[in-house]
Amino acid sequence: MQLDFWLNKWQKKDIGFHQDAVNQSLMDFWPRLDLGNQGHVLVPLCGKTQDMLWLAGQGHHVVGVEISPIAVQEFFAENQLDATPVQLDGLDDWSAGAVRLICGDFFATTAAVVDEVMAVYDRAALIALPPELRRRYVAHLSSLLPYGTDILLVVIDYPPAEMDGPPFSVNDHEVNALYGAEFSISMLAERDVLDENPRFRQRGLTRMIERVYRLTKLA
Ligand code: SAH
Repeated sequence: MQLDFWLNKWQKKDIGFHQDAVNQSLMDFWPRLDLGNQGHVLVPLCGKTQDMLWLAGQGHHVVGVEISPIAVQEFFAENQLDATPVQLDGLDDWSAGAVRLICGDFFATTAAVVDEVMAVYDRAALIALPPELRRRYVAHLSSLLPYGTDILLVVIDYPPAEMDGPPFSVNDHEVNALYGAEFSISMLAERDVLDENPRFRQRGLTRMIERVYRLTKLA
């Protein structure tokens, strides 16, 4: 059901979440993780985001996970990258240069498949999921990550009664409830982004706050 919803969205080209430019908060706050220019970065629920190319440009190996084959194929085609899939543990695995995309259900990925991850970038992944799946997502994500792994998390917070997700509202209280047991949490930024997102004003929102967090997995 949940996966069909997303597969249909890609089929219908109903992908308002996709940004043509690299995400500003990624460029502003990634350097604050102080990771150096190496290591694998996991991008769960990656769509065809340009952010993966930016991360690769920083020297990282990027591993994206995405259910829609349309998204995966468009990512490589639109960026003039040559990639052909190989099968890995029942998932299609595409690579070109420093970007590797696993086409399949994120919940079916294992630590062995995603490889040694040193950081995670989550923009529009946690907030793509309804409440019960968010809890499963955090548990599964954490199970893939070694201690010390940093997550750059970007979420939005709006009055939930004003709009049905996705994107879902995830407030500061929920971030702490979801991640607090296993991660240290620091909020890096908080700002009103409604003016930059007129489509959400049209959908009825009167307030939309973006928060950026650094989460670090505790030993
Ligand atoms: N992070 C991307 C895409 C956000 S939209 C961006 O910033 O543009 C959420 C994406 O997650 C969609 O592309 C959807 O197809 C994908 N998705 C949803 N559930 C998934 C799952 N269980 N496994 C893998 N991908 C999933």
